[in-house]
Amino acid sequence: MNMKNALVTGGSRGIGRAICVELARKGYHVLINYVSNDEAAQETLNKVNEAGSDGELLKFDVSDLEATNRALQAWQETHPEEYIEVLVNNAGIRKDNLLIWLEPMEWQKVINTNLGSFYNVTRALLQPMLTHKKGRIVNMASLSGIKGLPGQTNYSAAKGGLIAATKALAQEVAPRKVTVNAVAPGFIHTDMVEGLDLDEIKKTIPARRLGEPEEVAALVGFLVSDQAGYITGQVISVNGGLYT
Ligand code: NAP
Repeated sequence: MNMKNALVTGGSRGIGRAICVELARKGYHVLINYVSNDEAAQETLNKVNEAGSDGELLKFDVSDLEATNRALQAWQETHPEEYIEVLVNNAGIRKDNLLIWLEPMEWQKVINTNLGSFYNVTRALLQPMLTHKKGRIVNMASLSGIKGLPGQTNYSAAKGGLIAATKALAQEVAPRKVTVNAVAPGFIHTDMVEGLDLDEIKKTIPARRLGEPEEVAALVGFLVSDQAGYITGQVISVNGGLYT
């Protein structure tokens, strides 16, 4: 029997890499998506192998509908008997600025990468999940999408939209045993928080520390498991008690 396939967008670094390793431990064949960092993606694949599983690199820009469809159709053509049972929409970027100075590109790129990607990738993979009556979709939202953070109107809008899309899609596909949930990290130790004043931020977090990517990945690992089959349309925070 073929291994079950899981696609993790933005799997080359940070939270996505930790999710790839977690899913590898659970026995998935891991499709590691990324956009530019070949070396980091290869390093993730090495870690997937070390975790006792196998995977492959799938380089495409999730904000580009045509590129996404091309890459996923090509994969399906070379794996006609298989389907992607687990999708983790994790790829994301931030381009912070106060709205008064926010450039059109800063708005569009953040919306397209964090929210447009949900449509691009999920739309392409949903049909086989419905046909097989089995699927798991996990969307990486953010505290910013629940609470709204100043300097992040673009990112908050994208993540807030992702949360709403999660709730809507969960209701569409629940009869077909496909679950859709969102995970909302607070501040997690990755490249994305570089440049922030982490000492100041830590003072605001009840746990007095940042989270680690593995602590987010552990939740994703549970949400894709069979035990989580009745959990859908939820937004689960991983934030050290930093409530909104
Ligand atoms: P990260 O370390 O900056 O990694 C971002 C990942 O996304 C990389 O693998 C990157 O690929 C990929 N990516 C970016 N744009 C892409 C595109 N257009 N197409 C495909 N892949 C793309 O980020 P992270 O901190 O792990 O964040 C992962 C997710 O968690 C994001 O959605 C982020 O918004 C969310 N999040 C993070 C935090 C936090 O504190 N870190 C908090 C809340 C939510 P390359 O390596 O090729 O660039």
